[in-house]
Amino acid sequence: MARAMLGAIEAGGTKFVLAVGPSPDRILARHTIPTRTPEATLAEAAEWLAGKGGITSLGIGSFGPVELDRTSPKWGFITNTPKPGWADCDIAGYLGQALGVPVGFDTDVNAAALAEYAAAGGAGGGLAYLTIGTGIGGGIVLDGKPVHGAAHPEIGHIYPRRHQDDVDFAGICPAHGDCLEGLASGPAIIARWGVSLSQLPADHPGHAIIADYIAQACHSLFASVAVETIVIGGGVANTPGLTQRVAERARQLDNGYLPGGVRHRIIAPRLGGDAGITGALMLAETAGRA
Ligand code: ZN
Repeated sequence: MARAMLGAIEAGGTKFVLAVGPSPDRILARHTIPTRTPEATLAEAAEWLAGKGGITSLGIGSFGPVELDRTSPKWGFITNTPKPGWADCDIAGYLGQALGVPVGFDTDVNAAALAEYAAAGGAGGGLAYLTIGTGIGGGIVLDGKPVHGAAHPEIGHIYPRRHQDDVDFAGICPAHGDCLEGLASGPAIIARWGVSLSQLPADHPGHAIIADYIAQACHSLFASVAVETIVIGGGVANTPGLTQRVAERARQLDNGYLPGGVRHRIIAPRLGGDAGITGALMLAETAGRA
């Protein structure tokens, strides 16, 4: 049998990252293209991947919402996204057909969680990956597998308890107002204070408010799915000191109660900005074995 050559796509709302390599930890070539219409973007992605000399399987970590139910005729689709043109887009089907290879498909954040789980050595408790940026998303890996239930997790849309110094802001989520994304995403920070979190003065109360909301989400994940590690990525997470603030606040919120407490970790991505594309390569590897 010929050696595997994995193709991968991290499909985001503003850009697609493409990569090929013989294994998830060896990227031989990568390329970034802007996200336009599905027709233009997917055709360019397929052309670049096809030009890399014959990939044997493809992995896609996609922005969502997506259909992950293998028994659904809409498996591999981006479903009801508000992003113009992309609703009901058969991304996995189109690319699988264009390239003639099996396709592994999951959310961008489940892919990133898979990669961070592997980077952490895999053993031990589960891992959640949160991205705090234009929106807030989260993926969860337990026993080495991404969590799918009725659908994929949407951790950004849990409701945190309001911070006592943040009671007047209504939140910006079109569906929920003051859910986590409505309160702590990049646009929610700008809506309140006019600048990004990293541009706020070090002594601005916004730092503690945003850390509190993210810490509440972490506590919920520790308490509900009993993950051991939570990785926090995304643009807002690059704010100096935020990850440490979140970790400290989560410890305060728990108050020593949770039995897994001594094992809990809230950390920056070990793979940095490569978590998503590495996870997509892992999806390709699994699809190639199936
Ligand atoms: Zn929401």
